[in-house]
Amino acid sequence: MIPFNKPPFIGNELNFIQDAINQQKISGDGQYTKQCSKILENMTKSEKILLTTSCTHALEMSALLSDISVGDEVIMPSYTFVSTADAFVLRGAKIIFVDIRPDTMNIDENLIEKAITKQTKAIVPVHYAGVSCEMDKISKIAQSYNLKIIEDAAQGVYSFYKGRALGTIGDFGCFSFHETKNYSMGEGGAILIKDQDKIEQAEIIREKGTNRSKFFRGQIDKYTWVDYGSSYLPSDLNAAYLYAQIQNPDIINNNRLKSWNYYYEQLNELKLDGKIELPYIPQECIHNAHMFYIKAKNLQERTELLSYLNKNGVNAVFHYIPLHSSPAGKKYGKFIGLDMYTTKESERLLRLPMFYGITREQQDIVIKKIKDFYAINN
Ligand SMILES: *Cc1c(COP(=O)(O)O)cnc(C)c1O
Repeated sequence: MIPFNKPPFIGNELNFIQDAINQQKISGDGQYTKQCSKILENMTKSEKILLTTSCTHALEMSALLSDISVGDEVIMPSYTFVSTADAFVLRGAKIIFVDIRPDTMNIDENLIEKAITKQTKAIVPVHYAGVSCEMDKISKIAQSYNLKIIEDAAQGVYSFYKGRALGTIGDFGCFSFHETKNYSMGEGGAILIKDQDKIEQAEIIREKGTNRSKFFRGQIDKYTWVDYGSSYLPSDLNAAYLYAQIQNPDIINNNRLKSWNYYYEQLNELKLDGKIELPYIPQECIHNAHMFYIKAKNLQERTELLSYLNKNGVNAVFHYIPLHSSPAGKKYGKFIGLDMYTTKESERLLRLPMFYGITREQQDIVIKKIKDFYAINN
């Protein structure tokens, strides 16, 4: 069976983990946590990046730092992971879902303005598959209505929009280093902070409401409880694993892009025949090959194709069930405008095996099985 995903492993992760153990520093904010932040800041030209225990927790921190509270409204696509919404629901916000664009599966920037009310506090663009949302338009709307932008860039680490790294364009950006993402630390993430004035509060929230970060930098001589907070600080053991992978981020990135491009070239024939659709990358976007998906004609054809591939040793999978159709989505959210594409496009989409180190032979099998399916079902 060709797996859908393999956790990224470069080869020297264990050396760094061993080093953290030898240095007797395995809790948070050790040297690997610090070095990872620095590397990520250089990669993205971000003002400030703090590693977190997950992207979910980076989103929760963003909600706290944006002062989201009961009755506020937050606009996002319904086609996303549950955490995008959960982080704001935890603060008592109402989730306002708007439709996606069928070409990128990202929030339709032209529908956002109609969903804004007096209660709206933030927009949460999700960069699906590491391909950027239309951030110029979204930034303009946020500016004119005085809204915060929190980028869910879980899938967009080392992706760019008009030369700017995803996660650095909004007020806050959130990365994921889960094992299903391009770079990993098992479970983990990061928050990117644009506003200098928010950095200290972010450090306090991440450190259980204490000013311990300042204490460690020698800026104060003892630390104390200064505000609300939680424990969003990852272990240095996990950071050591991540460090191995982002020291030279192009190793993973180039490998993934090569595999992504190969799928695209080899499946283009089916696209030209009108059998399937392939991902669309807008000109202003540089993507990170986080995902390779194809679109079948409809739900029925996708179901048949999935079952054919699974029976033939290829672990292809579908993706999000739109949140507005889930029990919690109905309870905490509301879809504004028409669902022209969210449901329809999500039902056609199928993700192919895609991971660091997937071999040509494995990809050739995937490609052949898809072509066989369409030859049989002509
Ligand atoms: C993976 C993912 C998350 C959650 O990331 P964790 O690090 O597992 O919390 C959130 N949003 C999107 C779009 C994701 O793909």
